[in-house]
Amino acid sequence: MYRVVISPYTAISLIKITNYMYKKKCGHCGLLLDINLFYKNKYKQDGLKYCCKKCHNITAHNSRVVHYSKEQRKKQYNKEIRNPKSYLSSIYRHMKNRVDGKNYIKTTAEGQKILDKKTFIEWSIDNSRFNKLFYYYINNGRHRKYAPSIDRINVKIGYILSNMQWLTVSDNSIKGNTIDRLNKLIKNKL
Ligand SMILES: [Zn+2]
Repeated sequence: MYRVVISPYTAISLIKITNYMYKKKCGHCGLLLDINLFYKNKYKQDGLKYCCKKCHNITAHNSRVVHYSKEQRKKQYNKEIRNPKSYLSSIYRHMKNRVDGKNYIKTTAEGQKILDKKTFIEWSIDNSRFNKLFYYYINNGRHRKYAPSIDRINVKIGYILSNMQWLTVSDNSIKGNTIDRLNKLIKNKL
């Protein structure tokens, strides 16, 4: 059941039908629809997306098609297979954000040591495990679960060469979940 919080702003977009029923006008198709037909958006005053689910799905689908057209995908593929540097740069940016505490979700990496970008890229390009994972990822439609990601072997130590290894995103999250489960087990035993 969706709970509607009424503020002076929401009164504009939500139309009260009865005490328990509100409707909203879709910003795309202009139809007055039940609020259940809108996706939620916690950043909006009324907690709902600007357009209805149907309109949202159509635009999302269109943007996906435009974004990943066959031509573009091929171009991207060729670019990446020749040069993994842009992929590595983005991985480094994520690591740096985690260390600097700029991520939306806080991690244990915050405040830890981090090697410089040049060293990171040089080390990765020479790393046989990275190369293997990267080519597998590229050759399998760049599916996120195969994306190579950096794992801190010991989470209490930061991003330094002796503490880093390449894993796929799915292996990395399996490792994280296993450690969480083990920690819980240990805690409960004590
Ligand atoms: Zn609509």
